[in-house]
Amino acid sequence: MHAPAAPAPLMAFAGSPMDRADHIRADPAALGNLMNWRARVMNLDGLLPEFDDNGRLLWHTIADVAPDAELVFLGMMDDRAHFAPVPDQGGTGPAMPRAWQVMQLLQPEDLAIYGGARSLIDWHARHRFCANCGSPTKLVKGGWQRHCDNCGTDHFPRTDPVTIMLVEHDDKLLLGRQPRFPPRMYSALAGFVEPGETIEEAVAREIHEEAGVRVRDVRYIASQPWPFPSQLMIGCTSIADDPELTIDTTELEDARWFTRAELEEARAAGEHGTDLLYFPRPFAIAHHLVTWWLDK
Ligand SMILES: [Zn+2]
Repeated sequence: MHAPAAPAPLMAFAGSPMDRADHIRADPAALGNLMNWRARVMNLDGLLPEFDDNGRLLWHTIADVAPDAELVFLGMMDDRAHFAPVPDQGGTGPAMPRAWQVMQLLQPEDLAIYGGARSLIDWHARHRFCANCGSPTKLVKGGWQRHCDNCGTDHFPRTDPVTIMLVEHDDKLLLGRQPRFPPRMYSALAGFVEPGETIEEAVAREIHEEAGVRVRDVRYIASQPWPFPSQLMIGCTSIADDPELTIDTTELEDARWFTRAELEEARAAGEHGTDLLYFPRPFAIAHHLVTWWLDK
């Protein structure tokens, strides 16, 4: 008997079932009415979620949180308003071991709800003062904005675009590794989109800066929200005509071309990888980009 075909993998942090209910954000009376006994408030330890043995988020009621707590309105689900409390402090540095554990243990839908909430409350915790005049700001629009009463400036939660890209040449893919990666792990090259650039220009610039390779025919493949703290990973593919590498060792420890067979073997080897390569983990968009290329 054949096992059923596996469903298409869901990108980690994508696919939230929450209705963002934008029309309620700007209506303080409607928002106030929803802060009732049915409302749910995400149970967090700072920026990390509390969850049960089934990987489901745990929620408080409004009565469980301090009256002066700043609450962000996440949206409506199961006919209930959902909120997340702004912590005293924002995140520092990159994802830590407990965040990696959360990614592996939370159910996909709850991981998506948590990821969006995390980016938002982390932004609030780090933007309590106006970037324009330095005065304290206050949370408005259900937490989708902050306002400075002193100078009138509105501040909006940010999403930072990052390109992450495959480079293809002669049925091989270019992957690189940063010094902080575990041994044998190689991944797709990536970099922030800079002001004044298109996505395609950012892809071409990053690959040239990091690996010395010129690319053409940049195409968009898929994207992933990445809440550490607020990136949108924009997955692309591109073609290189000349494979010669000039590696920028301030950014990368190594970069090299992997054959289709080497990548297939590493994927089949699963979480332990091969002697050559440890395939990117399923919660990373790089995993899905390389998988897309192998299967196309
Ligand atoms: Zn101000």
